[in-house]
Amino acid sequence: MNAYVQRVIDSVKEKHASEPEFVQTIEEVLSSLSPVIDKHPEYEKVDLLGRIVEPERMFTFRVVWQDDKGEYHTNTGYRCQFNGAIGPYKGGLRFQKNVYPGIIKFLGFEQIFKNALTGLPIGGGKGGADFDPTGKSDAEIMRFCQSFMTALYRYIGPDVDVPAGDMGVGGREIGYLFGQYRRLKGVWENGVLTGKGLTYGGSLIRPEATGYGAVYYLNEVLKHEKDDIKGKTIACSGFGNVTWGICKKAMQLGAKVVTLSGPDGYIYDPNGVATEEKVNYLLEMRASNRNRVQDYADKFGCEFHPNEKPWGVKVDIVMPSAMQNDVRMESAEKIAANGIKYYIEVANMPTTNDALDFLRKQKGMIVAPSKAVNAGGVGVSALEMAQNSERLVWTEDEVDKQLHHMMETIHRVSAEAAEEYGLGYDLVAGANIAGFKKVATAMFEQGAF
Ligand code: GLU
Repeated sequence: MNAYVQRVIDSVKEKHASEPEFVQTIEEVLSSLSPVIDKHPEYEKVDLLGRIVEPERMFTFRVVWQDDKGEYHTNTGYRCQFNGAIGPYKGGLRFQKNVYPGIIKFLGFEQIFKNALTGLPIGGGKGGADFDPTGKSDAEIMRFCQSFMTALYRYIGPDVDVPAGDMGVGGREIGYLFGQYRRLKGVWENGVLTGKGLTYGGSLIRPEATGYGAVYYLNEVLKHEKDDIKGKTIACSGFGNVTWGICKKAMQLGAKVVTLSGPDGYIYDPNGVATEEKVNYLLEMRASNRNRVQDYADKFGCEFHPNEKPWGVKVDIVMPSAMQNDVRMESAEKIAANGIKYYIEVANMPTTNDALDFLRKQKGMIVAPSKAVNAGGVGVSALEMAQNSERLVWTEDEVDKQLHHMMETIHRVSAEAAEEYGLGYDLVAGANIAGFKKVATAMFEQGAF
């Protein structure tokens, strides 16, 4: 390991000991960058790594809201404007009860490299709140979103910082957030948020983009291996927006997703989540705010395994698409024992570092990293921003074509970056290196600040 890289990792470990997710992503990303830093001693001279691990700005704010019984609640809101070297800060908002600075920072750091990989001009940011949407009424969600935006609106803008959705924040929440932004600012600036509804500047294909993009990326990996997606079985986790998009695109291409999961366990549907009715039911499950995957098994009569993860199921492809640290060592061992060839991360940082190292060492297994695989979501967000600034709406075909092209390019530049450093077909290191090179060059050329 390059000594400077090691020093930066050590200092982050010490300084952020109480934020394990942030330390985890720093170790994962920086350890890929050793050969790049060896080649670019000028980066050490300006302490570029010491700078890149420090958010440009991060703030918290108070969010007070009233429930349907008239009682008041206070939550903490966050926005981390991590790196603006290549464009306005861009990244989602996560509403989940476990949100704290360590989660926001890990997501923000991943976002810098992911956004760079899209090839579009967007910097890295992330935000959210420790608000639990489970069981909340529509009116409660609206009041929470309004209060959240009342605190945030003065710090964002179409050329400043452009939030979007993440876990707990979908089209409905973005609508309430945008309505409040417009009310407060008195301007029509729909480029301030992405993931909007189609009647006020949303982009076609944005809801599908993360899942579709993941399957397009998977297809590139399969092509590289001279393999075919037709007939393949896929294990997914989660049942939200991302997993929904994977199920839909996999079905169109003749593959099938056979597992879904939730906080209550996982379902196994050997016929696949592969009919229009089943795929649409995932949307109902999310809208119900019940956060239970058992509902799927009850409706379609398939196996439900309470309090278990789907990683012991024998499939062709594993795509963890729920949340961070979903695959730990014990699950990774099961995946390896099942001889699975394709491990395609989708959710942000779904694998612990020890499990990821273990999987990357498995002979014949191909591991693809989430920051490349899920970049189609934020990539189409950038296309939404482009449409908003042009005051135009692109066709579904146009957006889908651009998404497809973007995913092909991300796969290719990642493979090329790994190749350039003599690492072979290492998509994990390649994505880190390709993303870093763009951001580092921009930071370097803009001088120290
Ligand atoms: N939350 C998504 C992500 O992790 C989307 C962000 C966006 O569209 O800005 O990339």
